[in-house]
Amino acid sequence: MSNAADDLVLVINSGSSSIKYQLLNPESGVVVASGLVERIGEQSGAIEHKAGGRTVEHEGPISDHKAGLQLVFDMFAATGHDLTGAGVRAVGHRVVHGGEIFYQPTLITDAVVAAISDLSTLAPLHNPANVTGIRSTRELLPGVPQVAVFDTAFFHGLPAAAKTYAIDADVAMAHGIRKYGFHGTSHEYVAGQVAGLLERDPAELNQIIFHLGNGASASAIRGGHPVDTTMGLTPLEGLVMGTRGGDLDPGILLHLMRSANLDADGIDQLLNRNSGIKGLSGVNDFRELQRLIDTGSESARLAYDVYIHRLRRYLGAYLVELGRVDAITFTAGVGENSPQVRADALAGLESFGIAVDPARNTAKERGARWISPPDSRIPVLVVPTNEELAIARAAHDVVASSENLTEIS
Ligand code: ADP
Repeated sequence: MSNAADDLVLVINSGSSSIKYQLLNPESGVVVASGLVERIGEQSGAIEHKAGGRTVEHEGPISDHKAGLQLVFDMFAATGHDLTGAGVRAVGHRVVHGGEIFYQPTLITDAVVAAISDLSTLAPLHNPANVTGIRSTRELLPGVPQVAVFDTAFFHGLPAAAKTYAIDADVAMAHGIRKYGFHGTSHEYVAGQVAGLLERDPAELNQIIFHLGNGASASAIRGGHPVDTTMGLTPLEGLVMGTRGGDLDPGILLHLMRSANLDADGIDQLLNRNSGIKGLSGVNDFRELQRLIDTGSESARLAYDVYIHRLRRYLGAYLVELGRVDAITFTAGVGENSPQVRADALAGLESFGIAVDPARNTAKERGARWISPPDSRIPVLVVPTNEELAIARAAHDVVASSENLTEIS
């Protein structure tokens, strides 16, 4: 692959009122431009576009996703990249839920868009926003092939015992209820990086990965294939997160419906926005939580303790599920940047061959690195995730192979 401009891939992560994007080279990983469109549909819309060491800003109402993308493409043109010309080889879209249908990066057609839209019942907060982003981009870049990369895809083959909820099987079947898992692009990318770092064949490795960002999930991976993960039918299950509480007794919801008169929207608000670290401490950003703890806040301390307790519960579960573990890895905002979380998550586990070296753990490094002592049995690693690069590579590969097929046929 050459480094020509037309080898660049535009990666789009479209939320309900925001669009994150990167234009990058899928081979080298070099990011040519990146940015964020915020508060779409509000009077106070904003865009921050970074290219060539410069940041260009836009402030003002952005009526919808298409208007936001049009402004972004104008900014690209002003900074030397005409995406509507031959400036981009493919667009890769992050799509949250692929259901049972999509388990590979998929070239987008009208039928694919319709199917992603139909999956909105499983991801009402995410898939409609993804579809809006896809439709807008297709209208603005009609000649550019577009690929959907699904957050659920990596976990598609979870073993039946791990993916099945023990509820009425007919109800589960009728409503598509199973564990799907999310953050798959990140878990898969990081698992690959770990194999490279350890200079081992991924097929030989058993791994536990903690993706700890605003959303958080863990995975247990045997020989390159996930055998369990903490998120479920939706991204609400599992670990404690910024605004989501993770595992709950489902009876709590029945209780709230009956005693607090909460309906589906009220429960949605509680579970997605007012729980987790935020629900317990009032702040959802981990740096703020740590500052509150330093000032002696008891609610912040409790939030932290609950967060760590949940991490350790899943660590224990996955150690047993895997039997032998060859690497434990931390990634994403908190996982990459909080030595305290890493140390507390793994404290006191020397008898399991798990330890964190204090000097390595607190070293001011940013790249992939070891944080266990040299003589420790199980390597403990920090590996920066890069979902945009993984999506760009997947999109590039799908487009290249579809072109090959066209040439053969
Ligand atoms: P997202 O899920 O939105 O992609 P990120 O992976 O960017 O999230 O992670 C965001 C989280 O990482 C926030 O809670 C933020 O406070 C936390 N974080 C970022 N830098 C640090 C740091 N230096 N120390 C502790 N937490 C950090």
